[in-house]
Amino acid sequence: EGGGAMAAAGPERPGPGSLALLGPAPGAPSCPHGPALLFVKTSQGKEEGRRFYACSACRDRKDCNFFQWEDEKVSETRRATREEYNRNHQPPFTHRQNVDRYKSFVLLPLSKRRFCQECQQLLLPAEWEKHSNHQFLCDITTAQLKSPSQLLYPLENKKTNAQYLFADRSCQFLLNLLIDLGFRRVLSVGTPRLHEMIQSKASQEEEFSVRSLLLDIDFRYSQFYAEDEFCHYNMFNHHFFGGEAAHETCRKFLYEENGERVIMVTDPPFGGLVEALASSFKKLMAMWKETEKKGRDNKEMPVFWIFPYFFESRILDFFPSFSMMDYQVDYDNHALYKHGKTGRRQSPVRIFTNLTPSMIVLPEEEGYRFCTVCERYVSSGNQHCEICNSCTSKDGRRWKHCALCKKCVKPSWFHCNTCNCCTLQKHSCEKTDIGCFVCGKAGHKRSACPSLSRT
Ligand code: SAH
Ligand code: ZN
Ligand code: ZN
Ligand code: ZN
Ligand code: ZN
Repeated sequence: EGGGAMAAAGPERPGPGSLALLGPAPGAPSCPHGPALLFVKTSQGKEEGRRFYACSACRDRKDCNFFQWEDEKVSETRRATREEYNRNHQPPFTHRQNVDRYKSFVLLPLSKRRFCQECQQLLLPAEWEKHSNHQFLCDITTAQLKSPSQLLYPLENKKTNAQYLFADRSCQFLLNLLIDLGFRRVLSVGTPRLHEMIQSKASQEEEFSVRSLLLDIDFRYSQFYAEDEFCHYNMFNHHFFGGEAAHETCRKFLYEENGERVIMVTDPPFGGLVEALASSFKKLMAMWKETEKKGRDNKEMPVFWIFPYFFESRILDFFPSFSMMDYQVDYDNHALYKHGKTGRRQSPVRIFTNLTPSMIVLPEEEGYRFCTVCERYVSSGNQHCEICNSCTSKDGRRWKHCALCKKCVKPSWFHCNTCNCCTLQKHSCEKTDIGCFVCGKAGHKRSACPSLSRT
């Protein structure tokens, strides 16, 4: 496991072990990804050793090696060098420049529209020369410009970007669902494909009145969207790279004019720290709340947080008003996360929401049914347990009730009398490490958590 928001291992850095996030700290130093986060090494839940700052966004030290002890004295020279480094590590063009470039690009005849695959950049004819050794695509159509998520290669770098695009079926389902729920504005946080579907429908269908604002750390998208459609944003530290102007764009978007209701939809990288995400989402929710001086009462901005089911308890720790829906979200670029019906493994990814569960109607043609006791839609395999008085399956398979554990457990588990709980048949008894940070199970560290592996 690398550095950044996960674990900063290496010489003179805290060795591997559990790291606790102390959160965004006032006056924190910045790396190219905005203010760093404050961490401390813990052992057995107790804080230990020096606190340090590390990059909020990058889990791999190869992507950003920012590191600083909290109590470290930073000289004026080092501070200046760092500032220059941060400036040099910003994208080559500003968002404004990219918007102007786009305007020139669409005026070009098809034969002059090139996209450099190496630089992931739309090229203007004057720039061809500089990219002559690079692979490029020609004849970029308007349709291609409207589907940048197809044109750009997904940043699959597991540790940093982890860009996993929704399968069309899931994206369409999400969009229809939020339209049926009456939402007209979508704050798309790390959901470029949903944003793109909304934008392209809005430009094609007269009566389609949904709008979307994309917040994402992937700056390549600034080539395709104007400043009121995309903000370069880091969801681990709530940093708007475009400064106050971008902040204001977001604030304006959240202001519900003419009764146009807003929902935030987010699909963060699964390796990210839940507490860092929760802290940023609370800030976005507060921004929404502040758009209305009175009349919000105790209302929360409606949210869909798309994340694997094994993070349920972590998410509910931060958002007690949320509940997990059974809908299995599918992706294009994960072979393993395709829908169960196609004969592949079922997706572990779910929707967490603060909306009333009974309002989230799941497609019956995909086997979901309404449980009248639980008052929510559940997977076909999710049986209502009379003892728990709830539909208890988390993964879509039928779970079984264990009388000794007094709860339902996975079908593959059995009750071990030595461990005094249900677990896998194959396990070594009483190997009681501190539980894994991700799934809570003993015997492995977060970095080796089987729940997180995608291949
Ligand atoms: N399923 C979504 C994509 C989710 S992948 C869709 O199809 O629309 C995760 C997304 O989060 C990617 O777009 C990635 O660029 C973005 N992301 C990763 N780290 C981020 C960060 N620190 N801040 C903001 N966005 C980030
Ligand atoms: Zn190039
Ligand atoms: Zn039920
Ligand atoms: Zn039960
Ligand atoms: Zn048991």
